[in-house]
Amino acid sequence: MADQHLLTAHQETLSTIDYEQLILATGCQERSIPFPGWDMPGVMLLGGIQLQIKSGLVRPGNRCVITGTGPLLVLVACQLHKAGCDITGIYEAAPFKDLARETLALLNRPQLALDGLSMMMYLKRHHIPMHYGWGVVKAIGGPQVEQVTVAPYSKDWHPDVSRAETINADVLGIGYGFAARSQLAQLMGLEMQYDHMSGAIPVVDEWQRASIDNVYCAGDTVKFAGAEAAMLEGKIAAYAALNARNILMPNLENEFKALRHQLDKSYRFR
Ligand SMILES: Cc1cc2nc3c(=O)[nH]c(=O)nc-3n(C[C@H](O)[C@H](O)[C@H](O)COP(=O)(O)OP(=O)(O)OC[C@H]3O[C@@H](n4cnc5c(N)ncnc54)[C@H](O)[C@@H]3O)c2cc1C
Repeated sequence: MADQHLLTAHQETLSTIDYEQLILATGCQERSIPFPGWDMPGVMLLGGIQLQIKSGLVRPGNRCVITGTGPLLVLVACQLHKAGCDITGIYEAAPFKDLARETLALLNRPQLALDGLSMMMYLKRHHIPMHYGWGVVKAIGGPQVEQVTVAPYSKDWHPDVSRAETINADVLGIGYGFAARSQLAQLMGLEMQYDHMSGAIPVVDEWQRASIDNVYCAGDTVKFAGAEAAMLEGKIAAYAALNARNILMPNLENEFKALRHQLDKSYRFR
């Protein structure tokens, strides 16, 4: 028990908080992929672009190229276009056939699938081209990005530069996924494992219990599966913590089964 406290910093004051149960939910961060020109003004991660648009104050540029992989590419392209930007092209690294193979899983979340479809229709309506199996090679310019070179990717994402194309753009949006923010879990000495999407993540059981007693992990720090899954994992961890403190919940087992069922559906969709 003696070691169970957290050192926290708040408003320039350090303090310690003793705990009996701890739920770690430290989220994730966007993954930065280095390539020539990646540090030039105008090259931005998709989350940064979204923040600028959502703040309603800044339009990141005029001619935008979006590269990377995942549904965020399409969402950000639509948001940029609605904000008045010209979208020269979206370059999704995964080949179309790989994405098409996953369409059955979309039936797990019909509303989200419909939202996705309506975004694809938006792209079509506004003649925004979507290229599958293509990705970034380099950003060219100085000091600001002026051109972007893209090329078809092989199945292990090596660009075929003999077929590269260079496009004029003053914004390059990059979205190659997220890495778990698991430093705190590592510092605490929790058992870790490697996940091909999220990098180093803490090992948890079906109740979100980590390898050290009374420590639970939930959300993007464990598995990148979106906001709904993060909330469900948080609930399961909270129930497990209450149970460990002998605070009896009526119907705990049934509640747990229902949450796990929802969570599995959410994972399949993601
Ligand atoms: C750009 C972007 C777009 C997204 N769009 C969608 C979407 O459209 N739909 C969807 O379902 N999901 C989306 N997501 C994912 C969604 O935001 C996450 O799945 C969800 O927020 C995960 O919740 P979480 O509690 O695990 O982490 P977070 O919401 O990230 O919360 C983690 C918190 O922990 C804090 N923290 C981290 N380390 C420490 C520390 N050492 N000490 C103290 N505090 C710490 C952080 O400051 C943060 O407040 C998006 C994510 C990003 C980045």
